[in-house]
Amino acid sequence: LSVENQNIISAYEWLTKLYHHLLRYTKDGKDGYRYFRDRGISDETIDEFQLGFAPNIKDFTATFLEKKGFHKQLLVKAGILTLQSDDTVTDRFRGRVIYPIRNHLGKTVAFGGRTITDQGPKYLNSSESDLFHKGKILYNFDLAKKHIRKKSEVILFEGQMDVISAYQAGVKNVVATMGTALTEMQAKLLRRYVDNVIICYDADNAGIEASYKAATLLQSVGCQVKIAKMKDGMDPDNFIQEIGAEAFKTEVIEASDTFMTFYMNYLKKDYNLSLEGDRLQYIENVLKELAKIDSPIEREFYVKELSSEYDLMMDTLLEEIQVYRQKSDTPKDKSEKDRYTNKVQKPYQ
Ligand code: ATP
Ligand code: MN
Ligand code: MN
Ligand code: MN
Repeated sequence: LSVENQNIISAYEWLTKLYHHLLRYTKDGKDGYRYFRDRGISDETIDEFQLGFAPNIKDFTATFLEKKGFHKQLLVKAGILTLQSDDTVTDRFRGRVIYPIRNHLGKTVAFGGRTITDQGPKYLNSSESDLFHKGKILYNFDLAKKHIRKKSEVILFEGQMDVISAYQAGVKNVVATMGTALTEMQAKLLRRYVDNVIICYDADNAGIEASYKAATLLQSVGCQVKIAKMKDGMDPDNFIQEIGAEAFKTEVIEASDTFMTFYMNYLKKDYNLSLEGDRLQYIENVLKELAKIDSPIEREFYVKELSSEYDLMMDTLLEEIQVYRQKSDTPKDKSEKDRYTNKVQKPYQ
């Protein structure tokens, strides 16, 4: 680690403690404290996640860290201060509750800051730096790691509050992407630790689309994927807080759908299944996906569902799947070679 990066980590360490102390023990942080307590977060959990509050003063942080000997430029690089057009700096986080974002070693390398007054963007993160790339980090991975190993399973959420509520409820093998689409780097990171991933995104359109994309990506790196059954319009945090931890475990997590069941529902949005033509296309597309499953028993399981739901003979469906399977059997070599051949036989040569 370069000296500069060591200093950035040290600045984050000071600031994490300061923001946490303010929230927990001072009048300046009491709005932040109230905010978390009103959302059902206990003192113990606040301490465990080192949640904090950045007061609404434009140079509070800059003054504190400069007194500790940190240079302005370093703090701008760290994403803690913002450089103004007139070359002066201001605090990036003002009047927000603070979620320290820790890397896999447990070192804070960035903050997420949430408004508690509905002013400005809901969440604001540290800008990206050498130490913080949003697409490489998973929130809470450091604390979740041992639980992921123990359960051979990880639950993937969208946001910090989902992680914090689940963790508090005793579901600890949990991480979050913090709103952005899961990246290949994050998928591979998870794959190194675990086979089984349960995607538990928000039950809104954005969440369902993101679930499909994340599932496909995770499968492509070799994970077994399930999709949790989140109640319409809810997210994991408000489910746990409003309906309860037990129901979350049994009705959401343990009731997760396999990818195929999720996909069969997901695909319906593109079709009007009361029309015969749409219905046929829908079934063809489901069969195409089914053809990718290698286990004949598993294939038959879903074929049975399709056959009874759409009143089609199982044999016909299975036959169709075989056709798709043979098509995808075409050796990759051959198409590579053809492409090469085409290249050297351009018409003008
Ligand atoms: P809360 O429960 O506090 O309202 P949430 O996690 O349910 O937050 P979502 O809108 O579901 O919020 O977004 C999921 C995650 O995406 C957030 O936890 C946050 O990390 C990130 N996010 C949300 N809004 C923004 C934003 N405006 N800018 C950057 N990141 C954001
Ligand atoms: Mn969301
Ligand atoms: Mn949400
Ligand atoms: Mn939420």
